[in-house]
Amino acid sequence: PLVREHFLDERPNVSAMLARLNANENPYGPPSSTQKAVAESVMGGNRYSWKELATLVDKLSKKEGVTPNHIMMGPGSSDLLEKVALVLFMKGGNVVSADPTYMSLIKVAESVGATWKAIPCKSDWSHDLPAMEAAIDKDTKMVYICNPNNPVGSITAGKDLLDFCSRVSEKVPVFIDEAYLELAEGTGTESMVSLLAQKKNVIIARTFSKIMGMAGLRVGYAVAQPEFLDKIQKITRGGMGISHTSILGAIASFEDKEFQAMTKKLNTECKEYLYENLKKMNYKYIPSYTNFVIFPINIPGKDFLAKMTAKGVMVRAFDIQNKPWCRVSMGTMEEMKLFVKSLGELS
Ligand code: PLP
Repeated sequence: PLVREHFLDERPNVSAMLARLNANENPYGPPSSTQKAVAESVMGGNRYSWKELATLVDKLSKKEGVTPNHIMMGPGSSDLLEKVALVLFMKGGNVVSADPTYMSLIKVAESVGATWKAIPCKSDWSHDLPAMEAAIDKDTKMVYICNPNNPVGSITAGKDLLDFCSRVSEKVPVFIDEAYLELAEGTGTESMVSLLAQKKNVIIARTFSKIMGMAGLRVGYAVAQPEFLDKIQKITRGGMGISHTSILGAIASFEDKEFQAMTKKLNTECKEYLYENLKKMNYKYIPSYTNFVIFPINIPGKDFLAKMTAKGVMVRAFDIQNKPWCRVSMGTMEEMKLFVKSLGELS
């Protein structure tokens, strides 16, 4: 793999930190509508929540333009990534993906015996789709695409990706992780969910952790062909892992379009502020379609983490192609100002 992450020997004391810019969370959430729904639903927690789950699934299926049978729920999209990997790779095989990419599905696939066919990203950090297609062989059980991609923040243009998914899913299932897609702006940022209406074997993962501001409340879902989901759910059930309060919280945040629009707007403002300041300091960032930005730094990753943590700023540090990089999540503007100031003091 092209990526290695750095960690401090000791975990920082999170409650003493001034800016938590390490986990691509939503600094404004959960929305007040969700807070209210969660508080009011506590008393219903003695019952299983099938009815409320069905209400949420119904709303999501209408949004995605599919039937409720095309949706599998989970406590966060991590749950879906992991379950799909467990079931698909329990007899081995290989998974084709970009490198760098988000490693959750791949790590589970590898741990149950699959191999990873890592295809380096192109020079603009988008997916190298022809190389990925060429890497598919008789043992390939799935192609994993993270779009926009984590940790690089890049997008692979919608039209190219649509053609790729449409063609490749005739051979093997294509999993498209769209955790950050609602935050992406500009052309080429369309969802691959439209391929389901054409009966294509694609699986789209979405989460309430990012634009909906519910990372700690844990709700996510996969949209796929019912036959594909049946195969997964025969072995491991979906919605069973989500609490009653989180289901009600998710219904509220789903309806709260104002909160989502505000998140998107403030996220863009923070990115613009950051870009401007990174340019002033001569850091060359990758333009981001997400709520995080990655850029090369000129001190070793672990030293960088130690210095930023000492200033109360939590970020992530990676080596990519043997060079150190910082990945910073968008926080509030106040947190971004502290990040910029702290970074300036290092150079
Ligand atoms: N997919 C990507 C690309 C992510 O970056 C993350 C989390 O950061 C997830 C999935 C999992 O998120 P969650 O389990 O909170 O839905």
